[in-house]
Amino acid sequence: MAYQPFNLAGKAALVTGGNRGIGLGMAEALAQSGADVAIWGSNPTYNATAKARLEAHGGRVVAKTVDVSDEAAVVAAMAETVEALGRLDSVIANAGIGGGAPSFSEMSVAVWRRVLAVNLDGVFFTCREACKHMVARAKAGDPGGSVMVTASLAAIEGAARNEAYAATKGGVISMMRAIAVEHARYGVRANAILPGWIATDMTAGAQASPAFAEKVIPRVPARRWGEPADFGGIAVYLTSDASSYHSGDTFVIDGGYSIF
Ligand code: NDP
Repeated sequence: MAYQPFNLAGKAALVTGGNRGIGLGMAEALAQSGADVAIWGSNPTYNATAKARLEAHGGRVVAKTVDVSDEAAVVAAMAETVEALGRLDSVIANAGIGGGAPSFSEMSVAVWRRVLAVNLDGVFFTCREACKHMVARAKAGDPGGSVMVTASLAAIEGAARNEAYAATKGGVISMMRAIAVEHARYGVRANAILPGWIATDMTAGAQASPAFAEKVIPRVPARRWGEPADFGGIAVYLTSDASSYHSGDTFVIDGGYSIF
């Protein structure tokens, strides 16, 4: 019998923020590996376009319009997603927003609160509901599951003028480690992904900046922007049984930027 851990047939995965960018890159690889996939985003138009793209890979696809900063919406959507797919083997809390300021001194409470609401509260609500489902399943005799959070290099490097964003990304790594220890007994593992500079809508301003092209991208040892597809492999690995003993880790995926 061949070793085929990355055949995800029979598994179901949820990617929040899966309608574009890094999340869509992960959802696409999961669907191509045979998993049923759910995506959540707050924009129904993006959701519909991504759903059609994912369905082309042949598996079941569920797309839900959810604002992850809304606790009641996340609770309801998680129940509906589990109902639609029968189970969730992996949940990737990836939805996030940027939100900087001209300087830290000028950072408004409104920016601080909005960034925390989506990037920290949203990950909390999503992971809590995911763990609830996975623990209940374990108690019913079917242990296992994978929880992932998308953090950022901003969690471990100084992200000037982005203190709110940096605080959320550091926060989700700490949350993930606590989840990993608490849920190991149920066979549930938790890990964080730390992307570097990735070409998505979030970084459109930086992609258009000549100064950025001149000063930052040449410092990426891989000598290019990261792409959403660069996140497919880690999503598949962490959803698969190949990672069943891998928990509490932080995966830096940045083309070598942070070690150069
Ligand atoms: P994009 O802006 O391309 O995508 C963001 C995704 O999050 C969209 O699918 C969006 O869907 C969803 N989203 C945003 N707000 C909400 C909300 N309130 N409720 C539900 N979904 C929401 O960004 P990226 O793909 O680049 O970012 C994905 C993750 O990666 C984020 O957590 C980001 O912080 C992180 N990251 C990105 C880096 C980069 O260089 N691009 C670097 C490091 C980390 P919709 O618009 O429908 O709400």
